Amino acid sequence: MMESFAERERLLLAPYAMHSADSAGRKHPEPLHPYRTPFQRDRDRIVHSAAYRRLSYKTQVFTGEMGDYHRSRLTHTLEATSIARTLARSLRLNEDLVEALALVHDIGHPPFGHAGEDVLNECLHESGGFNHNRQALRIVEELEQRYPRFSGLNLTLEVLGGQAVRADRKGRHRPLLESQVVDAADSVAYDTHDADDAMELGLLSLAELLEVPIWGLAAERVRRRYAGLAGHELRRAVLHELIDWQVGDLLEQASAKIDAARFQSASAARAAGTIVEASADLAALKVELERFLHDRVYRHPQVLKMRSNVRTCLSEMFAGYLRRPELLPKAFQERTEQAGPSRCVADYIAGMTDGYAQGEHRRLFDRTPDLR
Ligand code: MG
Repeated sequence: MMESFAERERLLLAPYAMHSADSAGRKHPEPLHPYRTPFQRDRDRIVHSAAYRRLSYKTQVFTGEMGDYHRSRLTHTLEATSIARTLARSLRLNEDLVEALALVHDIGHPPFGHAGEDVLNECLHESGGFNHNRQALRIVEELEQRYPRFSGLNLTLEVLGGQAVRADRKGRHRPLLESQVVDAADSVAYDTHDADDAMELGLLSLAELLEVPIWGLAAERVRRRYAGLAGHELRRAVLHELIDWQVGDLLEQASAKIDAARFQSASAARAAGTIVEASADLAALKVELERFLHDRVYRHPQVLKMRSNVRTCLSEMFAGYLRRPELLPKAFQERTEQAGPSRCVADYIAGMTDGYAQGEHRRLFDRTPDLR
């Protein structure tokens, strides 16, 4: 059966794609599955993990208490995955590998998004710090307990390697094109949906966004097709246009480089540096949008208030568990000798959903900060 998958991939995928027959395998060797490729299996292991399910109750930018329209960490992950698969299929890359990489890319986020990450990083400043990309590796390599013979999910070395590249930005490892696609799709997703969410919450108006060059240009592109659109209809059309424009641009740029280089293998393509990236013009427009979002959304007084409450909640909880490690679940208590108490406390807190963290804080301190 596996041979037919190899054959199917040979027919469908480009020579520079990561073919599953060429996978370097898993840390704990396992027989091939009769009807799933190794990367399909990785995707399924991720989807069935507890850490993945918890993404539905974790903050992307705005907490669940602020409303129910905006993205959670899970719906962000699904939007990024959908965009990544589109890119992968168009470039004839390994869509199963891309899907696994995209579904796992944010699995290491603690409760309350980057606010939570910053607090844990400070709490761990003397023991290596905290980073959500590295935490994703800890989860899939050690913390998830799903199989009798090993800790973690025993994912293929390609999925672990892709996540390791995200965790190590010093460029020691060059990413596969499949990893590059996920990175690009992540950026398309959040640059687009964070503005949409901020508008829905009333932190930004459409008129203000249309002053930002990338939004103004996208609106012009929309009006060429639908003259006279305004308000909600214009907003929706511009959001679609922004994704379509960015994806089209990425495909155009990547295809031109791939056509020129004629890569014959995944390793040749990965050695060539960044292939999947926005054109210089669009990249500059995105930088400007991100600067705007940084000032107007991520630094909005309402978001800053949430951040400061998160700081209180998580840092008190961190200190509380360090003082009373007997309150940690048994599995985390047992790991303290091997990993050190502060790392174990951080692992426990990082695994919590937003609501669970608030509940635990209440249990420890008998009061809960307002997280709206
Ligand atoms: Mg992401």
